Amino acid sequence: MKRRNFIKKASATGLGLVTVSSSIISCDEESGKKELYGATLKPQRPVVIATWNTPLAVETAAKILENGGSALDAVEYGCRIEEANEKNQTVGKGGLPDRDGDVTLDACIMNDKGDYGAVLGVKNITHVISLARKVMEDTPHVILIGDGAEKFAYEKGFERENLLTENSKKAWEKWKEKSEYKPIINKENHDTIGMLAIDKKGNISGACTTSGLAYKMAGRVGDSPIIGGGLFVDNEIGGASATGLGEEVLKTVGSFLIVELMRQGKTPQEACEIAIDRIVKKPNSNFNNFQVGYIAVNKNGETGAYSIHEWFSYNLFKAGKNVNIKSDYFKKV
Ligand code: ASP
Repeated sequence: MKRRNFIKKASATGLGLVTVSSSIISCDEESGKKELYGATLKPQRPVVIATWNTPLAVETAAKILENGGSALDAVEYGCRIEEANEKNQTVGKGGLPDRDGDVTLDACIMNDKGDYGAVLGVKNITHVISLARKVMEDTPHVILIGDGAEKFAYEKGFERENLLTENSKKAWEKWKEKSEYKPIINKENHDTIGMLAIDKKGNISGACTTSGLAYKMAGRVGDSPIIGGGLFVDNEIGGASATGLGEEVLKTVGSFLIVELMRQGKTPQEACEIAIDRIVKKPNSNFNNFQVGYIAVNKNGETGAYSIHEWFSYNLFKAGKNVNIKSDYFKKV
């Protein structure tokens, strides 16, 4: 058995998820990577990874983790930063509206127990990620939509806010001049935030929050709040999250696919690449016209990211450093 294969197998069975002893490593075939002999591979934690250039959100999450907080708190409070950031026109307050001028938000969250909560198509509430957490923790359900979700928010003490900022209103009014309905996400910039974190105890949680596709049909929901689409976490294996054209992510159940590929021994990077491949290789794939990007982390704290086109980046907090990194991508020419 080659060492690489051995380590992958160990990961799949859970062995690779904890300290690997030198005696196990030395059972492996010699492959030149002798630095591993006698060494101890420790899982890296805490770790935070989030879609796009989201330094403040990741820093907020990282601080929580560094202070011994849970991965669940980290992803919730990290995502709230972007929800409150009015300059980000694809998340929370200031998000671009649907074609009727209504800003509707989608969000979901998963904890290390495999619990999930989501809200879909919510108006007038900025911090939908916290609302999704309330659905997960305080109701017997996993999804609340529209008016029901909003009513639940007020019951839980959330504030009613106008989410349509002047800038987003102006952009919508400009769009209305032609109002050509082309549900195509521009390739350069999306900013939906998907965030994954591992806390000091090694527990993984994830969150994803968005205003969805700009000028979408009223009632349209994408991948972001849907389990296995925009987000999936399995505490034994790792987590994944998506950004980009939600319809395409949903059709391939992208985040679930990535976690299942990691379960089979793929690295987070390999898993993200295979998930993108699924989309671009579809017989009717129109991938030149849309973007999808994935991030992933495994239980060891190894991360991966891949997108269809250039311009996808992610923020990564690891070993005390928070950096924005350009993702590798499929369409090179
Ligand atoms: N994935 C989001 C959606 O389809 C949009 C985005 O990531 O920009 O709603």
